[in-house]
Amino acid sequence: MSKTPKRKKNKVLKIVKKNHIWVTIALCLIIAIVSDTFIAIFSSTIGTFVFNSKIGDEYDAVSYMAQMYEFSSEDDDSIFDFLNKDGRSYFITDNHGKVIYQNGENTMGTTSGTFVLPITSEGEVKVKVYLDNITEGLFVPDEDGELVFSTGSIFTYAFRVWEQTNLQVGSKKTSVDLPLWIAIDVKDGRQTFYAKTGYRMSFSDVAFLLIFILLALLLVGCIIVLLLVNMFSTLIYQRNMSKVFFTDPITRGHNWMWFSVRGEQLLKKRRSAAVSYAVLDLVFVKYRNYCVCHSVVEGEEMLYKVDRILNESIGKKEMAAHYASANFALLLKFKDREELKARIQQIINKLETIGKDHKFTFHVGVYVVENIKDAKGRAVKRKDIDIEREYNNACTARSTLEDSDESAIAFFDENLLEEQKWIDIVMEHRRSAIENEEYLIYYQPKYDPKTNKLRGVEALIRWNSPELGFKSPGTFIPILEKNGFIQDIDHYMITHVARAQKAWLDAGYECVPASVNVSRAHFIEDDLAEQIRDAVDAEGCPRNLLEIELTESAFFDDKKALIDTILKLKEYGFMVSMDDFGSGYSSLNSLKDMPLDILKLDAEFFRGDINGGRGEIVISKAISLAKSLNMLTVAEGVEFKEQVDFLAEKGCDMIQGYFFAKPMLGEEYADKMNRKEGFEDSKEEKAKVEETEEEKPEEQAILTEN
Ligand code: C2E
Ligand code: CA
Ligand code: CA
Repeated sequence: MSKTPKRKKNKVLKIVKKNHIWVTIALCLIIAIVSDTFIAIFSSTIGTFVFNSKIGDEYDAVSYMAQMYEFSSEDDDSIFDFLNKDGRSYFITDNHGKVIYQNGENTMGTTSGTFVLPITSEGEVKVKVYLDNITEGLFVPDEDGELVFSTGSIFTYAFRVWEQTNLQVGSKKTSVDLPLWIAIDVKDGRQTFYAKTGYRMSFSDVAFLLIFILLALLLVGCIIVLLLVNMFSTLIYQRNMSKVFFTDPITRGHNWMWFSVRGEQLLKKRRSAAVSYAVLDLVFVKYRNYCVCHSVVEGEEMLYKVDRILNESIGKKEMAAHYASANFALLLKFKDREELKARIQQIINKLETIGKDHKFTFHVGVYVVENIKDAKGRAVKRKDIDIEREYNNACTARSTLEDSDESAIAFFDENLLEEQKWIDIVMEHRRSAIENEEYLIYYQPKYDPKTNKLRGVEALIRWNSPELGFKSPGTFIPILEKNGFIQDIDHYMITHVARAQKAWLDAGYECVPASVNVSRAHFIEDDLAEQIRDAVDAEGCPRNLLEIELTESAFFDDKKALIDTILKLKEYGFMVSMDDFGSGYSSLNSLKDMPLDILKLDAEFFRGDINGGRGEIVISKAISLAKSLNMLTVAEGVEFKEQVDFLAEKGCDMIQGYFFAKPMLGEEYADKMNRKEGFEDSKEEKAKVEETEEEKPEEQAILTEN
């Protein structure tokens, strides 16, 4: 799988989480409260200002009366004559709450209680005076006639006016006189002067107040509505965003983004120690083939079906999503591995039959997310979960099934991770290893078993990495082959072997053909034969000194292209051999069609005892078959004298094996070749040959290697 970039995921999460609903609601509330308070303060200030401006003159008059009383002497009654002239009702209380004067009459300290105060021409209002609490200010009588301290609560007052005076739209009255009492502390607070005053409120005043209140309410309402609209649109936006980000365009179900976000949350939560989770990678094998044979639309319809079945097969707190291409990601709960395996198998069984006339194949890789338990055996929260890594591991497990044509399940284990790391290292170094000439060429001679004479040699690669050490081809060649980078190696080998052959030739060695392995992956190139020809010619090496070895597996590929390339190679003067004959199943069939020069019997023939066994019959028949097809035979992996004798007797042409020689560096191999007369002691020539070779690694390394 290609890794989903974490940055992309975080970005999506940010967008989806942006304007989180709770933040939006809190913001709405704060703005509503602030705007409400602001409007209340503002309108109250305006109201008070209007009210005070209306009542200001009356207050001044009462204040003047209070001042006059303040400055009069205790025993001067003429002050009451002066106060009575004003014509308004007034009374004075002492600091015990007793009324001492009422409208100029000395009441001699009447106790607090209910006073009947004439306030309008239409009736009387009973006033209860609770003198203990009174402070200087404006008093208004409420519905029960109680004097209520009222410092500018204009709205309450306006409503009371409305209620008390029947001043209504449509009534004939256009104004009403409102009773108001003004209280002023006098004589250093020992007495309080109360005077009645009136406030004439007109219909237009009330209307103004009401309109003002309504406008204020409307404004607040508008702000709240706007905030609500914003909140809901944010919610809808969020929902739509989540839908876009979390929906797969092909399956119309959930996508990888959804899986990785929600799956990680699910895995990080604490859960029962008895329940484990597994991350799965399920792949629809040969999906591309299906699309090619049918159509992409039909292929996608199959993916849709797979997604539907997967979603039908999962339970609560389990997940399934389309990853990409033919891959699906699953998160399954389980208690026991066998039970999990059986369940996956059931899902596969269902999936295999989604095509009417097709039985499909599915590969599943499983990564078990281990529970971490505390001392008491309870599962602890796993903060270290990285679902991309877990899914990657499931993919690694699944990739081990790549060669299987049947549906299969593979569980991940740590060794796989090591393998995966090694694959990454090889891929990472593939170019620098060529550029820095870290690949060494080893030569393994092929001998004639009858004469013990050198008749050929095979060039074999080794990787001498300064960083990683000495590596045999089995550790890196299959990786490069699988990932499509073997062409570079093949080209490197052909060039270097041709160069070495030319140098040896020039140095007077009696060169024998050197075979180079050319990977099957290389045979898809139309001009492979031309590439080889040009590379060899460029080095000035005679073409008959180079032989191309094809592994048997190459013969499974495009037969026609293969035959064409072989024919061209032969036409250009190269020899072509079939490597590893007998290690597969269709060798005979391949021989029928391929015009090859040499047959290399696979080393497997010579493992164990061949004498007297069926193996002996097979080997001798293979040799005679090759002879009748005009092919030479090479026996590989021969380690014992008896094997050599047997092969010599059966007419095998060459033997390549440890019995004669292990693969060795060019310098050592050169010593095995004969030299033409006159060349033996030419030191300069030998040095020239050495120059073409790699730095010789430690002898120990070679021994370990083989
Ligand atoms: P191969 O082409 O079948 O090479 C023969 C392998 O058998 C060599 O292993 C050789 O060292 C080993 N061998 C030879 N005689 C004996 C014997 O008597 N006993 C035992 N046990 N082994 C013997 P090596 O060099 O490790 O190569 C392994 C494979 O790697 C080769 O198998 C070939 O498929 C691949 N390979 C090696 N070099 C190249 C190369 O330059 N290009 C490509 N494409 N593949 C290469
Ligand atoms: Ca070979
Ligand atoms: Ca071989």
